[in-house]
Amino acid sequence: MNAVVYKGPKEVAVEEVDEPEIEHPNDVLIDITTSCICGSDLHMYEGRTAAEPGIVFGHENMGIVTEVGDAVSSLEAGDRVVAPFNVACGFCENCESGYTGFCTNVNPGFAGGAYGYVAMGPYKGGQAEKLRIPYADFNALKLPEGDGHEDAFSLLADIFPTGWHGTELANLEPGDSVAIYGAGPVGLMAAYSAKIKGAAEIYSIDRVPSRLELAEEHCDATPINFEEGDPVEQIKEQHGSGVDKGVDAVGYQAIDPDKEADDAYDPARENPAVVINNLIRTVKPTGELGIPGLYVPEDPGAPDDMAAQGRLGIDFGLLFEKGQALGTGQCNVKSYNRELRDLIIEGRADPSWVVSHRVDLEKAPEMYEAFDNREEGVTKVLLEP
Ligand code: NAD
Ligand code: ZN
Repeated sequence: MNAVVYKGPKEVAVEEVDEPEIEHPNDVLIDITTSCICGSDLHMYEGRTAAEPGIVFGHENMGIVTEVGDAVSSLEAGDRVVAPFNVACGFCENCESGYTGFCTNVNPGFAGGAYGYVAMGPYKGGQAEKLRIPYADFNALKLPEGDGHEDAFSLLADIFPTGWHGTELANLEPGDSVAIYGAGPVGLMAAYSAKIKGAAEIYSIDRVPSRLELAEEHCDATPINFEEGDPVEQIKEQHGSGVDKGVDAVGYQAIDPDKEADDAYDPARENPAVVINNLIRTVKPTGELGIPGLYVPEDPGAPDDMAAQGRLGIDFGLLFEKGQALGTGQCNVKSYNRELRDLIIEGRADPSWVVSHRVDLEKAPEMYEAFDNREEGVTKVLLEP
């Protein structure tokens, strides 16, 4: 079958790979109908990680069940399902408490598993024609028959729950003001979640005009372009005392506008501390910060440029002085995706506006390049084998 295979920094190819098989009685196989490209894939694509060439990407997967292992009881061939990006067992201590992003069984030695992701277990990605879903009774969310809401449902694998998670980590409540750094797919879903939850004011911070326009149009957010001046000052001009809550939907590849380079996303412009420091400054004393944006630990064994990626120059003293709380980590997709699915089914949420492209799997190389360059109008790309 065809799949999107990582070849090396900034290069993926669509190549023939082995088809998945049932490996355990708890598995099902699905024919992929949609697999999305994610900002998290870009960390591997850009060569910032230990990902080895040959990995099949794709952790945001939906499709139709084709084969069912003997121990699976709730699924049958023909079911339409979406799979949370977390691979989780469902019965370890963390899964039992709802922390499926930190399952201790699926990926020994590391908290949490995922499809097609470096260091997150042996699970192949779904940017391919077929996928194996382990512990399938737990890891496949059933969808209504047919092909309704195909774009919106595909976002249940990751970014809609992850955006929601950002607002949960910040304990966002109705009437709160909130600043959301990053208007990529995750930041836009966080802004949309804030709107659904009844935030009084939403600030969306980015540099890509088309993304800021989406935040304004679909989330009633006030757009803040961080290239036009210190975003904290821009927000404080409108909201003097600081906002109640803040979300970091950028991660460690954050651009520092004070650094210059020819290309907007040149790594020379990066500063992995800039967004967290801005959040601490933007949010009021005793406010709360949610950080779904991805950061990586220090790794003394990694090549020089990667080893220190986890050591950030964060102003922890200011966080302490302001008595702020913060929450971080992988989204526990399973904890939210049934409710978010039902909001979509009932017509109370429709996040499909974030999808800018639905293209053939063969177009993956050019779409990875365009998404990586955060080209105007390229927001969320769905691949269709
Ligand atoms: P993305 O990289 O396209 O979005 C990031 C956005 O941040 C871009 O639009 C970029 O222009 C903007 N940005 C860069 N520097 C900024 C700054 N200083 N201030 C404000 N905005 C800035 O991709 P995405 O898919 O939206 O993912 C965002 C982050 O969320 C990534 O780090 C990704 O790995 C992470 N993520 C985490 C989880 C989780 O479970 N916690 C799940 C999915 C994605
Ligand atoms: Zn993702």
